[in-house]
Amino acid sequence: MSNASKCLEWKRQEVTHRPVEERIRDFFEIEVPLPEPDLIRQAGRCMDCGVPFCHGSGCPLGNLIPDMNDSLSKSKWRTACDILHSTNNFPEITGRICPALCEAACTRTVNDEPVLIRHIECQIAERGFAENWIGPLRPAKMTGKRVAVIGSGPAGLAMAQQLARSGHEVTVFEKDDGVGGLLRYGIPAFKLDKRILDRRLRQLMAEGVQFVTGITVGKDISCRYLRNSFDATCVTIGAEIPSDLRISGRHLDNVLFATDYLKQQVNAPLEAGKYPGRTISVKDKTVVVIGGGDTGSDCVGTARRQGAKEIYQFEILPQPSNGSQTVSRWPLWSATGRASSSHQEGCTRRWCVSTKGLSGIENRVVELHGVEVEWNDGSNGRQMREIPGTEFTMKVDVVLLAMGFAHVAQDGLVGQFGLDLDERGNVKVDDAFLTSRPGVFAAGDSILGASLVAKAIYSGRQAAANMDHYLMHL
Ligand SMILES: Cc1cc2nc3c(=O)[nH]c(=O)nc-3n(C[C@H](O)[C@H](O)[C@H](O)COP(=O)(O)OP(=O)(O)OC[C@H]3O[C@@H](n4cnc5c(N)ncnc54)[C@H](O)[C@@H]3O)c2cc1C
Repeated sequence: MSNASKCLEWKRQEVTHRPVEERIRDFFEIEVPLPEPDLIRQAGRCMDCGVPFCHGSGCPLGNLIPDMNDSLSKSKWRTACDILHSTNNFPEITGRICPALCEAACTRTVNDEPVLIRHIECQIAERGFAENWIGPLRPAKMTGKRVAVIGSGPAGLAMAQQLARSGHEVTVFEKDDGVGGLLRYGIPAFKLDKRILDRRLRQLMAEGVQFVTGITVGKDISCRYLRNSFDATCVTIGAEIPSDLRISGRHLDNVLFATDYLKQQVNAPLEAGKYPGRTISVKDKTVVVIGGGDTGSDCVGTARRQGAKEIYQFEILPQPSNGSQTVSRWPLWSATGRASSSHQEGCTRRWCVSTKGLSGIENRVVELHGVEVEWNDGSNGRQMREIPGTEFTMKVDVVLLAMGFAHVAQDGLVGQFGLDLDERGNVKVDDAFLTSRPGVFAAGDSILGASLVAKAIYSGRQAAANMDHYLMHL
């Protein structure tokens, strides 16, 4: 803490966004970084509270947040950058898109606004790149062990980087054309510019990580091949199976899962024309997003940038009240005063709406049939009831289903490896991140279910440490 007397006086300064009218014309990032003196003052708001919940229970990665803030408040950028990288492989990414559970846990929230932790993290990492402090970290010697990582999302990337730095030869197999999992093909570019991801990937490649893209393990190459060719394998394939809506008309054209829509839009600004015929445009269309969470808001922001005529977002649950404990927690904060940036760009949001059916002409969706619902406490918990007389029908051109994810894809490699599943249908691991098959580890959403980037990175790091131990005792 550089200035104990002032730290309580300084107010939180929010990160500003580019004006709506400007940003909806492009897909570039919307945040405007705080100037350096302001940022250092924000770091100085950290009051060295003694029991740092931000680090201990907030941040999934256990980032050393008070130490980071302390260094930055004294303008020790390099030290802050090193502290950050000691627990987090990709702080420039979490610094952009993390819901910042650390800020919800910050002691200052007891009677004030939290420290601006997420943005501080982002700027420290950016300074690290600008100053060339973030280069490849090569191992002193190689171990001669070969490792396969299946899936290149944040869990797989963190795992691969940690293992390469431990001296193992790492190959990452990825079924998509590009590396990054949902960092590339889910999270929109206006939240995470894909050049940020590519910059970090160059570091991994320089550290010796090899990427093989366009290969689906379990289809293009077998699990048996991996078992014979590598000393250990890690499954980091995400939780790809989206929750579906079983209603009449679900089969109609233009009724899409959110991820299928986002996947084909996310690189639009930078990769125009690279994937001809794969772009779904909602220009001049009426779009309904079903699901009130963060994936839904990403669809709203993307549809707005594509020039949709009207955008609606329906949530079946009630709008959290301002007094609710859940209000400050992501993803529900956007349900109240803290609308997400995408909602600020224009969208009609409705809560307590159930979609009952869809109808179409020549297999194209044209109408949505819905009803308002209410939720009441009953003997078996909260019960939903349709409100008679509130049925409605509206014109629609595109319906995007953003209702969360069920579990990991269970056919393909999970079946081929014969991996046990947990009660939620995800890959079951023990405390050492080992699956039911010897030498096969798993991490990320494939074991957690749909989660967060920071949690995926953390489990990738933990799984890597356990796999390293396993390899060195073979
Ligand atoms: C639209 C959307 C927006 C999100 N926004 C945020 C956000 O703002 N902040 C946040 O913290 N979290 C966000 N999340 C959640 C976050 O992206 C995930 O929790 C995280 O990416 C999980 O990482 P992962 O590495 O486990 O899996 P994934 O990122 O899903 O990566 C899994 C990879 O495995 C590959 N794969 C699957 N099967 C095979 C196979 N058989 N062979 C080879 N490769 C295979 C997939 O193609 C994919 O690349 C968002 C999620 C979505 C869907």
